Amino acid sequence: MANRPRIVLLGRQGSGKGTQSARLAAHLGVPHVSTGDLFRTAVRDGTALGRRVGDILDDGGLVPDDMVIEVVREHAARRGLDAGGYVLDGFPRTVVQAEAYFGTDAALTQAGHRPDVAVELDVPAELVLARLAARRVCPVDGWTTTVEDPTVEAVRCPDGHLAVQRPDDTPEAIGRRLALYEVETGPLGPWFAAHGLLARVDGTGDPDVVFQRILDELEPFLDRSPATTG
Ligand code: ADP
Repeated sequence: MANRPRIVLLGRQGSGKGTQSARLAAHLGVPHVSTGDLFRTAVRDGTALGRRVGDILDDGGLVPDDMVIEVVREHAARRGLDAGGYVLDGFPRTVVQAEAYFGTDAALTQAGHRPDVAVELDVPAELVLARLAARRVCPVDGWTTTVEDPTVEAVRCPDGHLAVQRPDDTPEAIGRRLALYEVETGPLGPWFAAHGLLARVDGTGDPDVVFQRILDELEPFLDRSPATTG
């Protein structure tokens, strides 16, 4: 297996993208970068960025491209992501973001950010609706679970905090986020495919099985990539 892989995870809200990204990053020993987490932390800490994006997040809208790109570039530089590898979760989310960050040339060589592969987790829209309604997240440490009875408002995370529904997991915000996904993020699958970098994975079923499918699909991309050897 190649060293320090650079992986983008794509998938609808509720596709398991966050969970699988964290597992993959831990398995490969590279940083997990979730733009959603970066924004939520900024909101929680009351930073200038947090004040600008708080309402957008709660409404289920998209943070403007230029702001997202700046945050990711700054984070990538600070954490040395290009040399150190990464699992990007939630970025890019528009073709504008992808072109600004990775470049527009065929090889996507801009600024040394080239990914080895983009994994698209396929989960039908009907299924993610049910998963999102049942999702409870700990606001302190991000621990996530799915409750069997969606009328249960909160459950304890292993550290004893209350895991609750995310403010953008209301039916209205979920509807907006899924619609935006189709229009803005959907085109990224074909975009990565056109660069020979797309691996599609069935995201339905047991999370352990999905994780193994991801590893199987990744292998040929990571083995052939010159960017990750040495
Ligand atoms: P989800 O995938 O369920 O929407 P995330 O945690 O990835 O959850 O993102 C939460 C919110 O953060 C998004 O609804 C959006 O408002 C904002 N966000 C995250 N990443 C981006 C991005 N790349 N571009 C624009 N907005 C983003």
